[in-house]
Amino acid sequence: MVRESEIRAGEVVVEAPKPNHAGLVYIGRIRTPWTSRLETPRQGRHDGPVCRLEIFEPWVAGLKDLELYNTLEVLYWLHLSRRDLVLQSPKNDGTARGIFSLRTPVRPNPIGTSVVKLVGIEGSVVLVRGLDCLDETPLLDIKPDRCEFTPLAPPQPGDFQTE
Ligand code: SAM
Repeated sequence: MVRESEIRAGEVVVEAPKPNHAGLVYIGRIRTPWTSRLETPRQGRHDGPVCRLEIFEPWVAGLKDLELYNTLEVLYWLHLSRRDLVLQSPKNDGTARGIFSLRTPVRPNPIGTSVVKLVGIEGSVVLVRGLDCLDETPLLDIKPDRCEFTPLAPPQPGDFQTE
């Protein structure tokens, strides 16, 4: 895996298309203890440090009822990642794997996801454990964990479809 944008033996860089503007909105920023990619956890842990999701206006009202869930899914934009590799060498040993078989931050659209534990909500700030991103990483979305969440809207035919 690329740690600080270097290219390793066996890795393949492509000419990545110019990004289309997908209309993403940063709904907040994430505050964590980590300022270097060399120190940030590879994956968050539920007994890891408490991190802060600072929500920007006008989205703060959207936190209503979030406390109903113990576990959340957080999506974030790994903003310092390169986006032009198709093969990567996580072990830096000359062997490389396709990016879609990895959870590497280096991908065409550097979206990170973590399942985190909700610690508390203080006004516009959500406190969680389980993140693995740099301080000031842009926040894209927060959702209840899919295992805890049951749709509130009435069922639709596709819900029962198996073939
Ligand atoms: N848990 C997420 C996932 O599976 O989608 C991200 C996993 S990724 C392997 C975590 C690593 O991304 C960290 O160890 C760090 O090296 C890197 N990273 C964290 N924040 C970043 C950022 N804002 N920009 C670029 N790289 C970042």
